[in-house]
Amino acid sequence: MTPEQLWQAVLGEMELSLSKANFTTWLKNTAIISEQNKIITVGVPNGFTKEWLENKYNKKILNIIKTYSPEVKEINYIINPKNFTPVKEDKAPDKKPSLNLEMLGVNPETNLNPKYTIDSFVVGSSNELAYAAALSVIKKLGTSYNPLFVYGGVGLGKTHLLQAIGNEVLKTNQEKRVKYVSSEKFTTELVNSISNHDVDKFKENYRKIDVLILDDVQFLSGKEKTQEEFFHIFNALYEKNKQIVLSSDRPPKSINKLEERLCSRFEGGMIADIISPDFETRLAILKKKIEEKNIIIPDEVLSYIASNIKNNIRELEGALNKIIATYNLKGFIPSLKKVSKMINITLSSPKKIINPKQIIKTVADFYNISEEDIINKNRKKEIVKPRQVAMYLLREEFKNSYPSIGCKFGGRDHTTAIHACEKIKKEIQNNNNLEQEVNIIKERLFQNF
Ligand code: ADP
Ligand code: MG
Repeated sequence: MTPEQLWQAVLGEMELSLSKANFTTWLKNTAIISEQNKIITVGVPNGFTKEWLENKYNKKILNIIKTYSPEVKEINYIINPKNFTPVKEDKAPDKKPSLNLEMLGVNPETNLNPKYTIDSFVVGSSNELAYAAALSVIKKLGTSYNPLFVYGGVGLGKTHLLQAIGNEVLKTNQEKRVKYVSSEKFTTELVNSISNHDVDKFKENYRKIDVLILDDVQFLSGKEKTQEEFFHIFNALYEKNKQIVLSSDRPPKSINKLEERLCSRFEGGMIADIISPDFETRLAILKKKIEEKNIIIPDEVLSYIASNIKNNIRELEGALNKIIATYNLKGFIPSLKKVSKMINITLSSPKKIINPKQIIKTVADFYNISEEDIINKNRKKEIVKPRQVAMYLLREEFKNSYPSIGCKFGGRDHTTAIHACEKIKKEIQNNNNLEQEVNIIKERLFQNF
């Protein structure tokens, strides 16, 4: 196995266990630079990524590497931005920057991943409206539903459907300029263009697009400047009958701090929701996935998985992949008994309601500190911030009252809780990193409990 192949394998596995946003944020533009004396050196684009990989994902990455190269003992992360800067003008213009996402098949111009197709999207009562709307958009770009706004919870197939629209359009119309972008990436691109003084180019590029797909627009919440720029881009495209497709985890009206004029634009076309799939759809999805992978799993085993993993399709796929990794690669056909045991372990703590203790634990784990530290009177900076984040989550996500929050954190006064929540709330707006941290913590909370 060459270092490139090894790293591709790592990326492949990490992609399965992380959300798209996390995966892109932390693993994009990384590569193995050398492998010497049982130490692997991984180049990363900046200090923030380095720190993050070292602190949060090192163990996981090392474990994956060890399954391929058991002799590897350690990973070194070094900042190596040179490798990753886009090709300069004086080099061959057709040479594209060496992004690892590209190795996974993602087209750097459209950002589309070819694996998300209309054909591989399984339709059931939970998503048929969104699916039908997508087909209609593909057929009559810009003139049937504009914008198409798809919303629904995590892992229910929004990104898949949105990207499928883009891929399908390009299949028949290669000259169309299609661009898929997450709202986070859109924001980052805008911020970068501001600091590089080329906002005009940024705007111009977006105005040239025929099909603009913006994923997870709930992340535009509170980002006034980004909303303003997007509003103008939206209008420019809309006036030219260019297709706009949007997704969010909630309907436009429920997005906090979204400018009224943008909200009404979002509501001006077609709004379609995707809800949790029923048993039949879950089973059909499993069948489709094993068919794609060319793998045989008995029906009773598939039914067992489909009847037990209900929350979302990402989890369903995760369970299937785990089973494939455990059994099929070794050439066994998984038996119902073994699979049910495995799934029961995964489901062993079905705590549906997230309690304050779990929040504190998740925050503590995330920042690598102890739960006691969060609750006790420690005033060190590296403790105070996680404590404030935990208080903030209790307030924002779980609507706890300030006195009860104070009480849960070692009997503090309610004014301390108010101060903490206000502070984090404000800081999130000015600090992308903190925002990302909080999002990841939330994601972990919902995934783990
Ligand atoms: P979301 O963007 O809503 O969080 P994703 O589009 O990332 O969800 O879907 C999570 C996973 O489930 C992806 O691997 C996707 O391919 C798969 N998936 C979701 N819906 C379907 C579907 N209807 N048919 C086939 N696969 C699906
Ligand atoms: Mg998504």
